[in-house]
Amino acid sequence: MIINQTGPIVENFYSIGHPAIPVYLMDGVSPIIFDAGFTFLGELYVADIKKIIGDRQVEYLFLTHSHFDHCGSVSILKQHFPLMKVVTSKTAKNILGRPNAIQLIKALNQASETIVADIGMELTSFDKFTPFEIDETVKDNDILKVSAGLNIRILETPGHTADCLSYYIQKQKILISSEAAGQSDRTGYIVSDCLYDYDQYFNSLKRLSLLDIKILCPGHLFVYTGDDAKKYLKASMIECERFRELVERCLVEEDQDLERVKIRIKHIEYDHFDGPKQPEPAYLLNLEARIKAVAKRMNNTCNRKESVLKVN
Ligand SMILES: [Zn+2]
Repeated sequence: MIINQTGPIVENFYSIGHPAIPVYLMDGVSPIIFDAGFTFLGELYVADIKKIIGDRQVEYLFLTHSHFDHCGSVSILKQHFPLMKVVTSKTAKNILGRPNAIQLIKALNQASETIVADIGMELTSFDKFTPFEIDETVKDNDILKVSAGLNIRILETPGHTADCLSYYIQKQKILISSEAAGQSDRTGYIVSDCLYDYDQYFNSLKRLSLLDIKILCPGHLFVYTGDDAKKYLKASMIECERFRELVERCLVEEDQDLERVKIRIKHIEYDHFDGPKQPEPAYLLNLEARIKAVAKRMNNTCNRKESVLKVN
């Protein structure tokens, strides 16, 4: 099944807030949540969580990576759940300790308030993003025993970013991959989100596809269950190779001109799509990083001394 709304997914596991930018809640003896969305949705996340857990505390918040749309409301959540421990990778902790990263996260969250109407929402939090403490860092293959029967396996899945973690809830076979598994738009096209490194991204995808998964949460819009979860990961790998081949072909045909390659790929994967969709400047920024990741790989495989890419 492909689920495109918030609410219960299986017993005790919920998508919270808004399907485009959800927080995932695993309820139990010790409720835990995954990711923290946009700042302006903070109060909505809190209200939805409280509807389910009542007066109890959230024990852990697990962040998949330090992108602004995954950590935007940590401080708001922490105000309401002061005992909540925030968990990230060591790399994410380093990034979130840099003043320029904090400035960027704050600015992007503020800029995102303009999409509120597009996603059929009203502003719920007028708070601005503020930095937060990270209580614990985890690494690949750590198993965090949250409570009896609730174990979380940590997988380092770099490629989308350097700091990406995926979380695997062992008993229920739930994988919170975030964009390490790519991102489907509303047409079903899977955007290969290899912003940081193409080969690392593909290898992370391959690793995730070998897990026994019943529920897959790629972080935006959709949750996949049963066969659809397996199908999605397979399709994401195929799409990833297809994207690489497309970029490689365009780089050759456009004489490695980055701007011309961007226009061609944008035409294929963005222009035709009515939306609501990512704002164009954000899409173009990400597209450039994805093209550069493929170009870097071409450089390495060709063993060229000079970059294949022309940047004007
Ligand atoms: Zn991201």
